[in-house]
Amino acid sequence: MNSYAQHEHHDFLNAVRQALADPPLQAALVRLTSTLMAGNRRGYAALADIDALRDHAKLIKEHTLAYLDRYLEQLEMSVQKQGGHVHWASDAEEARQIVLGIARQTNSRRIVKSKSMTSEEIHLNPALEAAGLEVTETDFGEFIIQLAGERPSHLVAPAVHHTRESIARILSKYSGETLPDEAQALAQAGRRLLRQKFAQADMGISGVNFAVAETGTIVLISNEGNARLTTTCPRIHVALMGIEKVLPRWGDLPVFLKLLARAATGQALSVYTTLITGPRRRGETDGPEEFHLVLLDNGRSRVLATPFRESLQCIRCGACLNACPVYRRIGGHAYGGVYSGPIGSILTPLYDSVVDNPHLPHASSLCGACQAACPVKINIPHMLIGLRELQTHQRGKSRWEKLTYHLAAAVLQRPWLYRLGLRCARLVLRPLAHEGWLRHLPGPGTAWTEARDFPAPAPRSFREQWRQLR
Ligand code: SF4
Repeated sequence: MNSYAQHEHHDFLNAVRQALADPPLQAALVRLTSTLMAGNRRGYAALADIDALRDHAKLIKEHTLAYLDRYLEQLEMSVQKQGGHVHWASDAEEARQIVLGIARQTNSRRIVKSKSMTSEEIHLNPALEAAGLEVTETDFGEFIIQLAGERPSHLVAPAVHHTRESIARILSKYSGETLPDEAQALAQAGRRLLRQKFAQADMGISGVNFAVAETGTIVLISNEGNARLTTTCPRIHVALMGIEKVLPRWGDLPVFLKLLARAATGQALSVYTTLITGPRRRGETDGPEEFHLVLLDNGRSRVLATPFRESLQCIRCGACLNACPVYRRIGGHAYGGVYSGPIGSILTPLYDSVVDNPHLPHASSLCGACQAACPVKINIPHMLIGLRELQTHQRGKSRWEKLTYHLAAAVLQRPWLYRLGLRCARLVLRPLAHEGWLRHLPGPGTAWTEARDFPAPAPRSFREQWRQLR
């Protein structure tokens, strides 16, 4: 299986139909995305210089990507200077082998993990479990979906598709107790069940939100205390990061700290901002004995040299998901990849296959809400259009498409033919209209009217009205 695609043959259209016909999912999506979007707007509105700050963040990202090799080498040197180990993984398999190797060398059997989409990307858990290791996700949402045998459906709220009732069922089954479907009781149960895992763990695996090249510091941002316990209780800490997460200087960090939580939830800062610079030092009472940083490429340097390079500026805040009218209706699982929503519709085709993911670049109304919500103003609509173009070049056009485009070109080049076509369409379609709308179009138009109405042609065209007016 490719590292990005979750299913070899994901049927996007079928998944969309299922999602639309799932009332609890629809209710959960409306609840979550509305709350988070309101937070995003509130968070941005609270800063007078928000636009300048977002532009500044974008400039830092552009600069970093232009000198990525230099900053990654600087990061490696800085981490080593602080007593850490750095590993380079060109793809998912290499990254899995590196983590397995560290587990073997350090005799680690029990692993706790804090939330990491990069570890989802490389399918780390199945590889660790296949090697006989015990892996426990410690972010509460991730813990739930691990117990349910599922995958995250949102970048920052992985279990958004679950209700309190379903979480109570899952936790009750795991713990052997009958837990009420009350938020506080469930959180307490989660804390109780996970606490002992932290105490027993040999190794903690975390993701990385940012890594500062200048100092060798990795930054973890979360709203639960689990990332701190994951990175300080076990003897070994392994941090897994995509190479695009590096920031050049210490002074760049506040720009992103101000933006990430505001964009994601509207908080001024997340509850925990954890800065880790190397393993425990002599005289310190806590922290791991060993710190390993795994730098994952997995197609990123390939994308760096394409017109889609801007996608590497993503800081995984999830704001574009919450803003997207498509994600808000279908949720994350329908996309079929590790990353969902507008940014997932770019990342999955780019890293998996443009041809094998034909629907994703089209799963967008191109309304621009994603770009407006994005803290680094990534031009997502522009890249989606670029991917559509790439798809057409790579797979070629079907006979029907060729015929349609030839026909359209012939008509558009001849105004008299265009006008005649309009008149014919009016003659055929107006009798089928009801209150100005067509509920069922014939032929290939059926696909359109299956999900929405089509405006009936006006009784007179604009040109006809204009002529009369004059
Ligand atoms: S593309 Fe922008 S809005 Fe979407 S997850 Fe990335 S940083 Fe956030």
